[in-house]
Amino acid sequence: MGADATDGPERIEAAVRALRAGGLVLTPTETVYGLAADAADPRAVAALYEAKGRPRFNPLIAHVADVAAARRIARFDAEAEALAAAFWPGPLTLVLPIADPQAVCDLARAGLETVAVRVPAHPLAHALLAAFGGPLVAPSANRSGRPSPTTFADAAEETGAAAAAALDGGPCAVGLESTVVALLDSPRLLRPGAVTRAQIEAVVGPLAEAEGDAKRSPGRLTRHYAPDAPVRLEAAAQQPGEAYLAFGPAEPGERVWNLSPSGDLVEAAANLFAHLRAADRSGASAIAVAPIPETGLGEAINDRLRRAAGFVG
Ligand code: AMP
Ligand code: MG
Repeated sequence: MGADATDGPERIEAAVRALRAGGLVLTPTETVYGLAADAADPRAVAALYEAKGRPRFNPLIAHVADVAAARRIARFDAEAEALAAAFWPGPLTLVLPIADPQAVCDLARAGLETVAVRVPAHPLAHALLAAFGGPLVAPSANRSGRPSPTTFADAAEETGAAAAAALDGGPCAVGLESTVVALLDSPRLLRPGAVTRAQIEAVVGPLAEAEGDAKRSPGRLTRHYAPDAPVRLEAAAQQPGEAYLAFGPAEPGERVWNLSPSGDLVEAAANLFAHLRAADRSGASAIAVAPIPETGLGEAINDRLRRAAGFVG
């Protein structure tokens, strides 16, 4: 790690190699420093949540190099086109229906059928995205609950230890997170940010407010993926008719999926959504889930499972 203020092509290449290998990369954006991962790779995204110490799988913003790349992952309507034309590249994030669910994996979207996408204006972020050639999720590089880093030194101190490569772009010009607007029904402001409400309303007219829960947790505006089958937690064993999500060493069996045979929480997080869907499709009467430790990423995994079981909103 470590970088100078004139990061050039060779550092971009090293960062791209790190991303392709599933690693994390510190990158400046015009808003704040981000910790980037390949949006298509659930292992990399799980490692990102772990590095940030996130107690929940909040949906992440997919960063792309240009509007053409954004159109490949999300469905654009006329309002999305107008906002993109007005503010991209720049600190505006649009929440749109997902068009390519593989390009931004389930874990990165927290299981939603929508995706948050933006085109950052920072030249290094743009160079990284153009060289990588696919979407990168890049939440702020701070550890969860701490302020967003706006200098390379702060970013390195927060999550640099978890990064396989780092780009130094000097201090961030904006220093404030992107504005998040959902275009799912009528345009809705999910998070105020660097682009003002007035600027957005000048393009698409009056914005609706995020209501209630959605305001506190914008990711919940649209229903999260919830299995059709009931979910039974803390299940030491599979009952007849049930599917079973094991964790740690377990006998293979019919309708048994192992989140991580070795008991690795990063692997379990990466497998969580795919295994939940597979278990749900198996025609089981219920999905029983082995106890998952509440440590590290386990907290976020258990939060997601409690939601799937209907214990939380
Ligand atoms: P950050 O963690 O700073 O990258 O912020 C991401 C923001 O975008 C949070 O407010 C998320 O809740 C929001 N967000 C990301 N994806 C979605 C989505 N699909 N639907 C609604 N909000 C989203
Ligand atoms: Mg943040």
